Amino acid sequence: MSKICKIYDVLIIGAGAAGLFLAANLRGKSVAILEKNATPGKKILASGGGRCNVTNRRIDASNYLGDADFATNILKNLCFKDVLKFFGELKFNEQKQNQFFCESGAKDVLGVLLKRARQSGAHIFCGVCVKSARKILTDENGQILDVSPAQNCDKNLTDFETKFDQNEQNLNEIFEVIAENGDKFYAKNLVVASGGLSYKSLGASDIGYEIARSFGIKVIPPAPALVGFTVQKEEFWFKNLSGVCFPAEISVVCASKNSANREPKMPRKFADDILFTHKGISGPAVLNASLFWQKGLIAINFCPNFSIETAQKSKKQLSTVLSLPRR
Ligand SMILES: Cc1cc2nc3c(=O)[nH]c(=O)nc-3n(C[C@H](O)[C@H](O)[C@H](O)COP(=O)(O)OP(=O)(O)OC[C@H]3O[C@@H](n4cnc5c(N)ncnc54)[C@H](O)[C@@H]3O)c2cc1C
Repeated sequence: MSKICKIYDVLIIGAGAAGLFLAANLRGKSVAILEKNATPGKKILASGGGRCNVTNRRIDASNYLGDADFATNILKNLCFKDVLKFFGELKFNEQKQNQFFCESGAKDVLGVLLKRARQSGAHIFCGVCVKSARKILTDENGQILDVSPAQNCDKNLTDFETKFDQNEQNLNEIFEVIAENGDKFYAKNLVVASGGLSYKSLGASDIGYEIARSFGIKVIPPAPALVGFTVQKEEFWFKNLSGVCFPAEISVVCASKNSANREPKMPRKFADDILFTHKGISGPAVLNASLFWQKGLIAINFCPNFSIETAQKSKKQLSTVLSLPRR
């Protein structure tokens, strides 16, 4: 039996930071967000240790890997002041390295995103796990001319007995999004904001890559980024230092993983805090170094400001001169 389907102006896959921010800025459009988790924005709640740093005063394209023009264009339209204005009712602390952390926590950051998205009229459907998407071309009478990608097409097309809203007669290109439970959603525009692959427990999936591939879009193989290093068995002594945090300098000798044109091998240095964890090391210096590290050398200078000459001249104990935490 056929049923009348609503066709949204925009369907967004993923109620994370990107999907919610987009919905909040699509005023006057009919928008639906499809989210596989039971609640939206789970990753936002985990961000910044629950305090979510939303932007940075010194943000520019050079802080990003990959396509510099892409980052430049986005930042031209959305500087850090715009971000702070968007979250106008919240208070932010500017901390070292010019990061803006939310005083009242990530929960409030998510609250504002949800409020703005709903104010724009977006419907958020939680518990909807998207399985695939396809584009349907019809003639002016609503007859189906083509479905792409072909591999997502049911051979007998009985699915398309579905009737669209009468007001949408002149429509000749719509997206159909199919959920794992068989539910279908239709829209004139489709935005895939399903995030990256990290933190499966927070909802991460490869659906974005799958949809891109099915539409013939080239996917650059993803690589871990902004992650801590896990040490091998012989380095398990790290575990004993779990919780210790201090400034150090990390050097990695490798190419950029995320850029299409891999840069020649060159050492990069990252001076910032490192944090020993029960699995290895993390902290800002390590997270930044992870963007560039490929299997190979990593060197850590635990005392970047230490000078042997100064130490020799000093009458103090070496443990004092070394400026390392007592543990
Ligand atoms: C521990 C941690 C701390 C962080 N701290 C900060 C910070 O302080 N500041 C900062 O700027 N960034 C931080 N980040 C990074 C930031 O959280 C992410 O960059 C941001 O959340 C990405 O937003 P997104 O909308 O692209 O993706 P996500 O937040 O991952 O949202 C994608 C959504 O799509 C949904 N989805 C996936 N597959 C499907 C499917 N098949 N069907 C339907 N829905 C689907 C997911 O459930 C998810 O809700 C942190 C990340 C982590 C993990």
